[in-house]
Amino acid sequence: MAAGIPNSMKALVLGAFGGPLELKTVPVPAIGANDVLVKVGACGVGLTVVNLLATPGRVDRYPRIPGHEIAGEVVAVGEGVRTIKPGTRVTNHFYMTCGNCRNCRNGRETLCLSPRGNIGQNRDGGYAEYVSLPERNVVAIPDGVSDIDAAVASDAIATPFHACVKEARLRAGDSVLVIGAAGGVGIHMIQMAKLCGARVLAADVGAAKLDFVRSVDAADVVIDASAGDLAAQVMEHTGGEGVDAVIDIVASRTTLAASLGALAVGGRLVIIGAHPPKVYGEDPSFLVDPIRFLHRGLEIHASRYVTLAEIERTLELVRDGKVRSIVTKTVGLAEVPALHEAIRRGETLGRVGMVFG
Ligand SMILES: [Zn+2]
Repeated sequence: MAAGIPNSMKALVLGAFGGPLELKTVPVPAIGANDVLVKVGACGVGLTVVNLLATPGRVDRYPRIPGHEIAGEVVAVGEGVRTIKPGTRVTNHFYMTCGNCRNCRNGRETLCLSPRGNIGQNRDGGYAEYVSLPERNVVAIPDGVSDIDAAVASDAIATPFHACVKEARLRAGDSVLVIGAAGGVGIHMIQMAKLCGARVLAADVGAAKLDFVRSVDAADVVIDASAGDLAAQVMEHTGGEGVDAVIDIVASRTTLAASLGALAVGGRLVIIGAHPPKVYGEDPSFLVDPIRFLHRGLEIHASRYVTLAEIERTLELVRDGKVRSIVTKTVGLAEVPALHEAIRRGETLGRVGMVFG
């Protein structure tokens, strides 16, 4: 191990499926020839990890250290690493892709045909003082962007970039409904949609969440989805036409049905959230009326995460102040499990994360 790097570290370790995350002292990970060792400065804490912990079969081997929205400083590199030097601050891509398949070579790497799993799931992640990451998974952080903002940008801001630009194809003058606007992805989605030039309708439930959405000042219309039929409310706000796109981050059966009902002729439904039955105890499947779908020329898109290039672009938008990273709470490593529970209950606003003080 290089000078200054300890042999052991603190980490949150999952010992078995369904078990608690335990704060333990474990060896600092060894790095392979094509890996970099990162001293973790911050790690995002979000619903993806909560769903991961509750879904059997996702983690392939125990013990496992979760956490995939990582930012920190590279302190050592493997002998085969050419593009990253110690001292560089980096964030990471969540998926371990092959780089060689048709989709990887076509700029659709999140649909890799030979995926090797995900960081924090099939390889230890960032709920630790140090993490080993593959060279091809890391992206340099521009000066002026903090670790926590970069960690959030790698997923909760980059994901909106992909959803708004590539899937919803938002352009000036379009209208878009964002469902789940107060969440970690949603609060950045409304900003990204505004940046694309769209008129933004933001829906969520509960006074605290709606006030939070208003406080960010990116939405043109804030809708309380619990105040009545969501599609009907959207029709009222759009002169009966509906919206050009819906980005559904909740993606329950109820919100997906409302999404289809809220679309204008030629509208795009972008499904981005996951509402796994194992976590929520309800089936999110929804019905599509093929005749209405056909006659109105609707589109349904799956927005799966982002490319590495999109993470780079997103970090530049954050550096330039075009999109603000909204982090409402940061905790130390030991408090992450309690934060997971708050996320599962839907009690958090915006993005939350773990930082090393
Ligand atoms: Zn591939």
